[in-house]
Amino acid sequence: MGLRSWPRPLSTICASAMTTSNDFLHRFQLERAGARGALVRLDETWQRVHANDEHSTPLADLLGKTLAASALLMSPIKFAGRLSIHLRDSGPLRLLFADCTHDGELRGIVRWEGAQPKEPIQLAPSARLAITIENAVTDTRYQGLVPVEGADLAQAFEGYFERSEQLSTRIVLARNGDRCGGLMVQQIAGDGGAAIGDVDGWNRVCHLLATLMPTELLELPPQQILLRLFHEEGIRLQAAQPLAFGCTCSRERVEDMLRALGRGENDALLSEQGSIQVNCEFCNRRYVFDAHDIAAVFAVRPNDKPTIVTLH
Ligand SMILES: [Zn+2]
Repeated sequence: MGLRSWPRPLSTICASAMTTSNDFLHRFQLERAGARGALVRLDETWQRVHANDEHSTPLADLLGKTLAASALLMSPIKFAGRLSIHLRDSGPLRLLFADCTHDGELRGIVRWEGAQPKEPIQLAPSARLAITIENAVTDTRYQGLVPVEGADLAQAFEGYFERSEQLSTRIVLARNGDRCGGLMVQQIAGDGGAAIGDVDGWNRVCHLLATLMPTELLELPPQQILLRLFHEEGIRLQAAQPLAFGCTCSRERVEDMLRALGRGENDALLSEQGSIQVNCEFCNRRYVFDAHDIAAVFAVRPNDKPTIVTLH
């Protein structure tokens, strides 16, 4: 399929795509080059995640970029659900996690063993990114594992698309004090797997993207970034999807967790502390259960089906 099959490339971007919020995701297509992509910026959302805990600069970089990446990786998914990124590392990085729902709610967390690093973090050679996609409609989940080669998160995410979906992908991620952001482009394949767009299109997109500076990605309006990079590529920009901090914790979920612990463990905690307090690490919400609440958690209700919980 050649260039002539495309509608005339657009050099202007429709006014309806303008956005005033600083937390957004724009999907876009580059018609001449035969590519699609997404641009994400997180301002208040990032500050909310960042404010949950103390982070040294290298840890904040890692968390902010992972948060932005979760929105980028969710962007091509058409069904209702959630995408999560979980880094598994055998070193002092105990936990790095971010997730994004189809309706644009994000959260994230990072945990480090001991004094926080002041220098850029070198991930262990054995570090793996687990990327999990949950389909809320079919109640199914898919998980892909990718190595973090060269300690570069963006390259690891590119590798994820190339391994799991055979999609050539380039990703740029950035963070400063108050913001994080990312830009992703992917080559579009037509029927039979052949690339859509002109012969040199993908090479051109990669070279143009490599000229993007982190300050441009974080500071310029999205329309300006895309025009600066791809003004000859026939940009089609979709309206912004708003993004926001959101946590899926709930009292019901905590009750499920307490049930899985078993009555004996709950009673032991009650006699030790008088009440059981559970703090959500993502949003700091606190759930408190006294003896009366715990009795209700374990009470058998008339309509309950028998539940078997296997403890490992
Ligand atoms: Zn929460």
